[in-house]
Amino acid sequence: MLASLRLDDADAPVLTLPQWRIEELLRARLSALDPRALRTGTAISGLRESDAGIVMRRTSGEETAECAARIVVAADGVRSGIRSALDLGWRQCRGTAHYVMTDAGEVTDLGARAHLFCAASGIVESFPLPDHRRRWVARVGTPDTADPETLAAIIRERTGIALTAAPQDSASAFTARQHRAARFARGRVVLLGDAAHELSPIGGQGMNLGWIGALRLAPEIRRALRDDRADFRRYERRQQRSAGRARRRARFNMAMGRPVRGPVRGLRDLAARVLGTRPLRGIALRAFTMRGL
Ligand SMILES: Cc1cc2nc3c(=O)[nH]c(=O)nc-3n(C[C@H](O)[C@H](O)[C@H](O)COP(=O)(O)OP(=O)(O)OC[C@H]3O[C@@H](n4cnc5c(N)ncnc54)[C@H](O)[C@@H]3O)c2cc1C
Repeated sequence: MLASLRLDDADAPVLTLPQWRIEELLRARLSALDPRALRTGTAISGLRESDAGIVMRRTSGEETAECAARIVVAADGVRSGIRSALDLGWRQCRGTAHYVMTDAGEVTDLGARAHLFCAASGIVESFPLPDHRRRWVARVGTPDTADPETLAAIIRERTGIALTAAPQDSASAFTARQHRAARFARGRVVLLGDAAHELSPIGGQGMNLGWIGALRLAPEIRRALRDDRADFRRYERRQQRSAGRARRRARFNMAMGRPVRGPVRGLRDLAARVLGTRPLRGIALRAFTMRGL
């Protein structure tokens, strides 16, 4: 193992929550604000500007209806149809790599630490999850379909740790990519979250950056409604800056984990060890966990 980082630092702990719990909290909060706000099974399939604001075509099963809004926030993900419809651009940025991951029961007591195992054939990252579970992410050469046995073999070969595969454990493969929209808004329609910026999940914190964007956007929307004038340039500037910073950090994290041999490996390992020494540890933790976006 080349490096490990404490995630339970009393001053700045890194909090981990399973996705189902995040969704549960978001649904509860939205329902408390307006019980009728969430409409599942409904897709926006077109939009146009009118005197009433933005008129959207809403499709729900066989039914199609129109609805109007003064401001539209398009948080429709990486493949955002609204971004394409408004021609806001989608530029690929540097930083692409393939990974396989699984969540498994704690095997050895690795504690409340993130561990980085930098093997010649690629990195294995390991993070603690609630309920004595751990996420394992291994860099691989090709975007193969993942199966838990192959991933367990990779982890054993690179770390010496044998995962005990529980029946519910499964593995998934993903390709880390980074993109950004050229513009985040057109008129009264503004992009939020992955629709505006896709970050590599390798320390990428895409969801967290989406939330930072929502916090920044809220006062801008209030202002736009009050003045009846949509201007999202300030939000776009601040969010582009944060996304750029996150992309550079994710790119660095990915470069540190790529397969390397010979002298390059020696240099990479030395850099990781130096970053783990006391004066630099705080900076490394901050960068690795994406603080200060
Ligand atoms: C393997 C992996 C691990 C990750 N781990 C982390 C992590 O630990 N921390 C972190 O911060 N981030 C993480 N991320 C990133 C995070 O998942 C994304 O940044 C986040 O989900 C983006 O949220 P979003 O709401 O912008 O988009 P999405 O989650 O993609 O949601 C978009 C929604 O819009 C809906 N939609 C699309 N089109 C329409 C339409 N026309 N009409 C109506 N609805 C529509 C979709 O159905 C979907 O529900 C990870 C990503 C991956 C791939």
